[in-house]
Amino acid sequence: MRIPTTGLSREQVFETLASYKKQDMPWKEGRTWAYLYVTERETESVIKQAYMEFLSENALDPTVFPSLLRLENEVVSMAARHLQGDSEVVGNFTSGGTESIILALKTARDYFRHHHPHIQRGEVILPVTAHAAFHKGCDYLGLKKVLVDVDPVTFRAIPERMKEAITPNTIMLVGSAISYAHGCVDPIREIAALALEHGLLCHVDGCMGGFLLPYFRRLGEPVEDFEFNVPGVTSISMDLHKYAFAAKGASVILHRNKALRRFQFWACANWTGYTMVNPTVQSTKSGGPLAGAWAALNFIGDAGYLDMARVMLEATRKIADYIDSHPDLYILGKREMNLLAFTSDTVNVFHIIDEMKQKAWYIQPQLGFRGSKENIHLSINPVSAPLVEDFLRDLGECVERAKALPSGELATGIRGFLEGINPADLTDEMLGTLLSTAGVAGHQLPERMAEINEILNSLPTELAEQVLISFLNNLYVQPE
Ligand SMILES: *Cc1c(COP(=O)(O)O)cnc(C)c1O
Repeated sequence: MRIPTTGLSREQVFETLASYKKQDMPWKEGRTWAYLYVTERETESVIKQAYMEFLSENALDPTVFPSLLRLENEVVSMAARHLQGDSEVVGNFTSGGTESIILALKTARDYFRHHHPHIQRGEVILPVTAHAAFHKGCDYLGLKKVLVDVDPVTFRAIPERMKEAITPNTIMLVGSAISYAHGCVDPIREIAALALEHGLLCHVDGCMGGFLLPYFRRLGEPVEDFEFNVPGVTSISMDLHKYAFAAKGASVILHRNKALRRFQFWACANWTGYTMVNPTVQSTKSGGPLAGAWAALNFIGDAGYLDMARVMLEATRKIADYIDSHPDLYILGKREMNLLAFTSDTVNVFHIIDEMKQKAWYIQPQLGFRGSKENIHLSINPVSAPLVEDFLRDLGECVERAKALPSGELATGIRGFLEGINPADLTDEMLGTLLSTAGVAGHQLPERMAEINEILNSLPTELAEQVLISFLNNLYVQPE
């Protein structure tokens, strides 16, 4: 494909864009139970307008755009207050949870390089329920990941296990409030106390739960403390583009104090261009996401968020009650917010997901890993609340249909094919054969994903990762 010789008309541009969108998930109707955080139309339009007003402003240099500096300081201040921060707590606006987490890890790495330079390769202790972003950050930053199992019933981190994993190279302990997969809050008080006792940093991943949990607590839910009022917590990440309903590209990273935050920053006077000093990973960055987040917090307001939390809590209770009373389904862990993971010992959950897709519902598969059986994830939105009855009726029907479908044959065959192969020796050709056996031709995904999910679920993790990378490497193939 080439850049068109002469530009398209305005109409052509938007018609083409609209036509490209047609195959996307119909998320506005509330039928998509992951990836999206949707409010009603009026709020959405205010956020979009604020985003557009600041789309072109560049947060690269806050001295040139004092508006952006002010917006960022106000957003971070509201976030810090929301999480019980005192006047010492400082932070920055980032593009998302992953960036906030990478920055928390960089801070820990550089803090220890400064204060304990004998540590060659810092170790980060991660409960297996910690978000994949920590793996990504450790991989990018050259840190060692130390995985520890969680309680097989509650899916909460076990502080005793984390303590056993501490070595002289440990730099940080991680807890989640809530974990993405099961929606559970780790025992942050105990984890943070352990960090204090051993002179370690302690990061709380509040990307998903940080914003909403305080509202759930105000509604009477038993939410344990995870915020800056817990001694030993040194940083918290909190996404605004999840349950604060900001436009995508909005998160904050908060630190206990400035002395810690120093290590997040990066400066360079060692080249021929403008002086570089960046608080976050991006350099040139649009002011749009920041203005959108500011607009969300200010337009919805505390009372608005509390109302939405109430709607989500009620919807979640209805869904959880249904699953609890269903003979074939059960919830993993204890529900603490509005995220649920449920599974079955009698029905193949991947078939349930495919059947639901036939009825235009998107629900998310999660593969089995270290004590967490393969399952279905639901993130519950306020816009989905009026659909709960329909959703549960369809879910019940899909469970029955899934029971009648065969499973396991292809996955067993493919596992046999790959048995004994060292992941490093896998060639793209071998993976191509594997994917085509599973019905993936070129970059076309099959209608039904159950077989592919079963295969991924049955492979050793390293092999599964190679298969996924190969798939992506084929997906992003540019048109001629
Ligand atoms: C979403 C999420 C992240 C990662 O955030 P992104 O915004 O997707 O980069 C990290 N931790 C938890 C618990 C999350 O839910």
